[in-house]
Amino acid sequence: MRFYRASQFLFPHSLGLRLFAVCFVGTHIPLIAFVGWEVLRGRIAWTETWLLLAATLLGTAGAMIGIRKLLAPLKISIEGVRSIERGEPFGGSGTAGPDEMGQLLARVSEAAAAVQSRLSALDQAAHRDPLTGLLNRRGFFLEADPLFHARVGGAFALIDLDRFKLINDTYGHPTGDRVIRDFCNRLRATVGRDDVVARWGGEEFAVYFPRADEAHARGVLEQLAASIRDRPIAELGNHIATFSAGLVEVTDEPVDRTIERADAALYAAKRSGRAQVLVERDVLARAMGGLG
Ligand code: GH3
Ligand code: MG
Ligand code: MG
Repeated sequence: MRFYRASQFLFPHSLGLRLFAVCFVGTHIPLIAFVGWEVLRGRIAWTETWLLLAATLLGTAGAMIGIRKLLAPLKISIEGVRSIERGEPFGGSGTAGPDEMGQLLARVSEAAAAVQSRLSALDQAAHRDPLTGLLNRRGFFLEADPLFHARVGGAFALIDLDRFKLINDTYGHPTGDRVIRDFCNRLRATVGRDDVVARWGGEEFAVYFPRADEAHARGVLEQLAASIRDRPIAELGNHIATFSAGLVEVTDEPVDRTIERADAALYAAKRSGRAQVLVERDVLARAMGGLG
């Protein structure tokens, strides 16, 4: 290692050039010895000297090309590690034979795969709910924030299962868990591919419908309610699980405010009998009607 570090005074950024320098000196020693011998005996055979010089130069060029090619796995490994740092997949193929370079490339590729899978497990744990596989709140904001910032508008709903405590008390907590999972599957299957669905906590869920209007979002949630009515969640026998939802239009206001408004609409849906989707403007209209 000491020689290796000392060698860095020459071409510190290129191992290839240093290897080349070693080969160059090595291959030219016979030529220098030959010319020295000729000078000493006072007679230079120019033809042989030029021939030897041309041959060593040719050999040197070949060595240079060979070294570059032999160092290719090292370059692939370096590029691979850089792509991991950038959070991109390791692009290099992991086969370069059984020698030291091959082993280095194989180990780097294995280490890259291990880092990648650990990162995706961490990402999964940080952004997904383990019971349902849905995004959690952090995951929701990771996906929805760019859309909120881009001000694409849309609709936002908070959904809460009705009388869920009763379901737990009557059928047991494990059945409650299965109901939550089944409900999530139905929810996921009903919303569109671009809609962002999250488990907000407990038996509460959030859906962001980017670029959609309230009428569309309401239609989707009504369709979900109808599907549960027509084909009840099997675990519950005769009991039909219902949900309430508060739905608001997404405006340019801070997202916390949008969530508060949806929560207020959900609260109104609960207070006025549950099992319904309440749009904020209808809540306001009812309140005005009540005043009038
Ligand atoms: P409401 O119609 O007013 O929403 O009534 P509720 O009974 O659904 O409301 P409440 O908030 O009182 O109860 C929610 C229940 O959901 C209480 C809690 O034990 C249960 N719960 C929350 N998370 C889970 C879960 O992951 N699994 C199960 N089985 N139950 C859960
Ligand atoms: Mg509830
Ligand atoms: Mg709740």
